[in-house]
Amino acid sequence: MTGPFARLSDDDLATCVHCGLCLDACPTFRVTGLETESPRGRIYLMTQWKRGTMPFDEEQVRHIDLCLGCRTCEAVCPSGVPYGRIIEAGRADVEDARRPTPKRSISRAALRQVVGHPGRLRAAGAATRLAQRLRLTSILRSGRMLPALRPQFQRPAGNVAPAIGERKHRVAFLVGCVMPILYPQSHDAAVRLLQLAGCEVWFPPGERCCGALFAHNGDLEGAERLRDANMRTYRAATFDALVVDSAGCGAHLKDFYPELKGRVKDLTEWLAEVGLPEPKREVKMHVTYQDACHLAHAQRIKKQPRDLLRALPGVEWVEMRHPDICCGAAGLYSTLEPEMSNRVLQEKLDDLVATGADVVAVANPGCQMQLESGLRMRGSSMKVEHVAETLLRAY
Ligand code: SF4
Ligand code: SF4
Repeated sequence: MTGPFARLSDDDLATCVHCGLCLDACPTFRVTGLETESPRGRIYLMTQWKRGTMPFDEEQVRHIDLCLGCRTCEAVCPSGVPYGRIIEAGRADVEDARRPTPKRSISRAALRQVVGHPGRLRAAGAATRLAQRLRLTSILRSGRMLPALRPQFQRPAGNVAPAIGERKHRVAFLVGCVMPILYPQSHDAAVRLLQLAGCEVWFPPGERCCGALFAHNGDLEGAERLRDANMRTYRAATFDALVVDSAGCGAHLKDFYPELKGRVKDLTEWLAEVGLPEPKREVKMHVTYQDACHLAHAQRIKKQPRDLLRALPGVEWVEMRHPDICCGAAGLYSTLEPEMSNRVLQEKLDDLVATGADVVAVANPGCQMQLESGLRMRGSSMKVEHVAETLLRAY
C-alpha cells in the first residue's frame, strides 16, 4: 500500500451520485441539518482527499470522526454505495494522515493491549466489577454508562454445551470480547435457546475478539491480526454455522472473514431458520424492538427478530417510530464523541418512551448499554434486554 489515502477505493467513492436521498436517514444530519455531517458530505470530503484536490485538514477530520458508522445511508442508497467499506478504509487512511489525538491514541492502545487479549480483558472486567461493588466507578464518566457487572460468562466443561433432545446441528458460538463481561446473561440465554433448538454448541478454544471494534476505529491492521488468529481456530473444526448474538460482531465477521462465507449467522437469523420448540409459557408484556444498525442495515435482518418475538404467546407488540435509526452507541463512539452520541440518543429515547413498552429487546451490547443509561437518566422503568432473554421468557 503506497501514498496517502491508498486504502480508499476510487471505484467505491465513484458510486455516489450525490442525489441526497440518504440525508434524512443519517442520524448526524438529522440532529445538525449540516451537509458536512451527512453521508454525501463525508463521501465528498474523502473523495477530494483521495484525489488530492483538497488539502488534508485536521479540522475537517471532525466530520469523519462524527460519523457513527451505522450504515443507515448504505441501506437507503439507491446507487449501492458501499458506505461501510468506505468509512472503514477512510478512517484507517485518516488515522495515518492526522496528528494523533490523546483520546484516540488511548483508545487504540486499549484495544490493542487489552481488548485483543481475552485474559487481560477478563482481569479488567473483574477489577471493574470489584470497583463497582466498592462504589468507586462513579468517579469515572464511563462508570455511569456501564451496567452493574455480574459474574462473567463461563464456557461449559470441554467447551461444548449439548443439544437438548435430538442433536440436529453443531454450531460454533462467538463468545467475543466485551459481551461475556458486560452482558453474560445475553450469552446464557442465547446458548440455552440454541440447545433448545437442537444445536450442540461449541465454544472455539483460543478464540479472541473478532476485530469489529478495531476496524470501526480505523485499525485495520489490528483487525487483520485477530482475523488470522481466529481463522486458525475455526479452520481446525467442523460446524454448520458460527452463531453470533452481537450485531456489530456478526456484521464484521460477514464482511471481513471471507473464508466463513455463508456460515456466519446472527442468532435470530439462525433460530428463524432452524426453528424453536413450542413455547411453554405466556410472556405477558408490552414489547418493542430496537433495530441494531449492524443487524438492520449491515446484515439487512429486520424480520427474523420481530417474527420470533411476535410469535411469543401473550406478547403485546408495539413498534416505535423510527426503530431502525441509530441510538448513538456505535461501539466506542459514545465514549469518543459523547456530545453527538447524546444528541442522537435523545430522539431515540423520545420514540422509546412514547411506546409505553415494558421491555425493549435489543441485539447488540452497545445499544443495550446506551439505552439503559439513557432510560435511567429519564427515570424510566422500561427494561432493556437482549432479544434472546425476551425469547427465553417463554421457556
Ligand atoms: S450515498 Fe447514495 S443516497 Fe447518498 S448521496 Fe450518494 S448516491 Fe445518493
Ligand atoms: S454511517 Fe450513519 S452516521 Fe455515518 S454517514 Fe452513514 S448514516 Fe450518517
